[in-house]
Amino acid sequence: MKYNYFTYNGIVFVIKYDENKRIFYKLDDGQLISLNEEETEIINDLMADKDGYIYFSEKLNKIVNSNKRIIVPESINILEVFNWFEKNIPKKYLDNFYSRLATLEMDLHLNAIYDKEILASDYGKVNSAGGYNVLDNTIILNPKSVKVVYQIAQKTNNPIDFFYNEIIHTLIHELWHMASSKHDWNSKVALSGFDTYPTDNVAENNRGLTEGMTEFLATCALPSRFELANSYYFETCFIIQLCVILNFNVLLDSYLGNKGTKILEDRLTQLGFDSSKAYELFRNIQANYYLFNVDGKQNLLGNIQDSLLDYLDVVCALDNRKITLLDTYEKVLVTLEVIKGMNKKPDNYEGIDENIRRFKEIKSKYKTADIVRN
Ligand SMILES: [Zn+2]
Repeated sequence: MKYNYFTYNGIVFVIKYDENKRIFYKLDDGQLISLNEEETEIINDLMADKDGYIYFSEKLNKIVNSNKRIIVPESINILEVFNWFEKNIPKKYLDNFYSRLATLEMDLHLNAIYDKEILASDYGKVNSAGGYNVLDNTIILNPKSVKVVYQIAQKTNNPIDFFYNEIIHTLIHELWHMASSKHDWNSKVALSGFDTYPTDNVAENNRGLTEGMTEFLATCALPSRFELANSYYFETCFIIQLCVILNFNVLLDSYLGNKGTKILEDRLTQLGFDSSKAYELFRNIQANYYLFNVDGKQNLLGNIQDSLLDYLDVVCALDNRKITLLDTYEKVLVTLEVIKGMNKKPDNYEGIDENIRRFKEIKSKYKTADIVRN
């Protein structure tokens, strides 16, 4: 019998049809072999409907229309927001997005702006305006903070834009939490980004990294929201530093796949360091997040950036494409100015000046080499 086959990346793929299904194999020495995970991904990508906009929108439309627990005012084009997600989430994680969305309960409480009873004055932090609950699969905006945002908006030049930008930014942040979460009712284990709940293992919990990644992804939709007032500014900086050292897709895959920090630690360790260094780095990111409001001398932030600079130095020597990313890295290096801008005392943060000195040294070492090479 003649096989239907094609060759891609040097691999001979065979297509068979069985009961309305299309099955792919690879041909090796005349034998049909089942595809491994990587090869399956290649095929899924090749056979994906690249003009899937309309198809996916119909699917989304169906989900949104049949889920009556998504309560959003008509002033927000929620389908457009969801569509941004389906275009940006890698294919293998889309099913989780759809199934979470189908059972999502969401109330933005925008009516709070008309509520005269809500005393908004004691609710300070605009950025913690919303919350996602992994167990119930709910997104709720705090009515009080909705009112705070509304009141702040009235003092700006464009109140309506300001208000909706802030609300949609919060909404997108919470939707990334939803897209990166799973909950198993049988085992009662919840996974969210880099976190596992409940766990006694310090390595399975990293709220700092999870929030940093979530916020970084939200600012990909609305870049103007990446500012010092952002509650997760430090964590977002660490994520972007890690994106330069490793790469974005490795971080995204660990985050959406709930793979913890192990793969990231292994990649960093492969650069030629002791594995305990990467382990400690991620635990420090976690500790630093929880200690955000603790006012006193500390060197966690400085140590985190110092470790990351060790990796950056090696990675630039190994791969000269990284050198072009040094300017990006510089923009997300936490400086004493940044700390001051966040209403914190620079004197309490040991090692930050040393971080900057080291970064400049690394930059001039590789930039000079780069110019000479070119
Ligand atoms: Zn969050």
